[in-house]
Amino acid sequence: MLDSGIGSWPARRARMTPGARAFVQDDAVVTYAEVDRLVEAVAHGLRARGVAAGDRVAFLGLNSIELAVTLFATARLGAVFLPLNTRLAPPELAWILNDAEPALLIHADDFQEAVATLDLPRHRFTAAGGHGLDALAVESAGERIDVEVGLDDVFMIQYTSGTSGRPKGVMLTHGNIAWNAFNLLVDVDIRSDEIALVTAPLFHTAALNQVLLPTFLKGGTSLISARFDPATAIATIERERVTLLFGVTSMYQALAQEPTWATADLGSLRSALSGGAPIPRTLLDTWQSRGLHIIQGYGLTEASPGTTMLRAGDGLEKLGSAGTPCFFTDVRVVAPDGEDATPGQPGEVHVSGPNVTPGYWHNGAATDAAFDGPWLRTGDVAVLDDDGFLYVVDRVKDMFISGGENVYPAEVEQAVYTHPDVAEAAVIGVPDERWGEVGRAVVVRRPDSALTQADLLKHLDGRLARYKIPKAVVFVDEIPHNASGKLLKSRVRELYGTPEGPIR
Ligand code: ATP
Repeated sequence: MLDSGIGSWPARRARMTPGARAFVQDDAVVTYAEVDRLVEAVAHGLRARGVAAGDRVAFLGLNSIELAVTLFATARLGAVFLPLNTRLAPPELAWILNDAEPALLIHADDFQEAVATLDLPRHRFTAAGGHGLDALAVESAGERIDVEVGLDDVFMIQYTSGTSGRPKGVMLTHGNIAWNAFNLLVDVDIRSDEIALVTAPLFHTAALNQVLLPTFLKGGTSLISARFDPATAIATIERERVTLLFGVTSMYQALAQEPTWATADLGSLRSALSGGAPIPRTLLDTWQSRGLHIIQGYGLTEASPGTTMLRAGDGLEKLGSAGTPCFFTDVRVVAPDGEDATPGQPGEVHVSGPNVTPGYWHNGAATDAAFDGPWLRTGDVAVLDDDGFLYVVDRVKDMFISGGENVYPAEVEQAVYTHPDVAEAAVIGVPDERWGEVGRAVVVRRPDSALTQADLLKHLDGRLARYKIPKAVVFVDEIPHNASGKLLKSRVRELYGTPEGPIR
């Protein structure tokens, strides 16, 4: 095998554990030998459709075994996998496809309408336990695809969610993804008997790179769900003895609010990973009260994404921290004067390592702006404590200055969350004649709560320095989220950032 890339993983696993279960979805069980066979046939099919090394193959569909098969088949040809976010609107999809210029778009039939007006070669499928691509597949009578793929070749392009503007295509090489997986094997101790619940969307970097691929590398089993449903997820964890889970904050919140959560046997869970956004301390405590430790990680698409992680053995006193750097990855916190920040001093997180992207697709200017030598500037502010544990403070661009003092909205949000009537909160800076800027909290109340602005401000009094306490609270039914479920600060600012703002 000349192929050292991700596309070789199915054949290598089939050589080692042919009969082990690789993927399960609903009633379908696919072994490693079967994955290898499906991947090889689809790779031949892609080649017959004209896909060659370096070409992009876009994929649009909910989580499915077909997504994994497409990913490996694309990689086997040395082509580039382009997972598309299923929640994007047609103009957003068109923008990405126009930028990435794929040779082929593979889409599930439920997305027919979303792609109807796109002018590019397409293949439509219905998910069928890994066999949904049989119409595209070509059986090759034993002739295996033989393309030399190196670790520096681009394996996929992941578009960032665009919370900071137009999405940028992050190029991730075979080596980036492999090293990220190696980090997981060391940091989380992924094992060959792992049973992973893959219920977060696979088009997002975390579910794919932190769960499905490392589990596959070790020969474990990924239980793939098309959608996240908290009741089903709890029943599955209990029935299948799930050991590994990834969720974003809203998923962990939904699980904890499910009636069966308190009584279900969740004792099989060894690793419950979270990341991608700050997680309220109150939620960590709720899980902790059931003896379940949410492993908080910090990362970004550009780092494949693992950057730091709070490991299970790190001790409860570090709860709320995003931990220490992943094994093969280095992190610096850089103060405004360009020197390494001292413990407790906020600075911008810089990351370097074999899991860090070589740059953005067709966007040399953005790549140049992002790197300082070998260090990628993350745009996130954090502090390190005396033991080297990282606490993510906020994004650089979300910080505002009130009366000359820096205010990090994420810190204020943590304090707002300590009020039991708060379901969700976002804090933004708004212009103010006297202070330059002041905080405004946008809050979703829990059902049936009569929480008022005065109640909440009183609650914050004494919990935060005066200048950090928002001057106004806007109660809303819903806070805008982006397609990956992340709170969309830019949209919150557009809606509620005017000097007066709608207060009700
Ligand atoms: P865009 O780059 O277009 O703004 P995005 O930042 O949402 O989109 P991702 O790569 O999905 O793109 O997210 C990475 C970002 O998520 C990090 O830069 C950081 O701001 C935030 N983040 C990730 N993990 C954590 C964490 N544990 N705590 C706080 N914030 C986090």
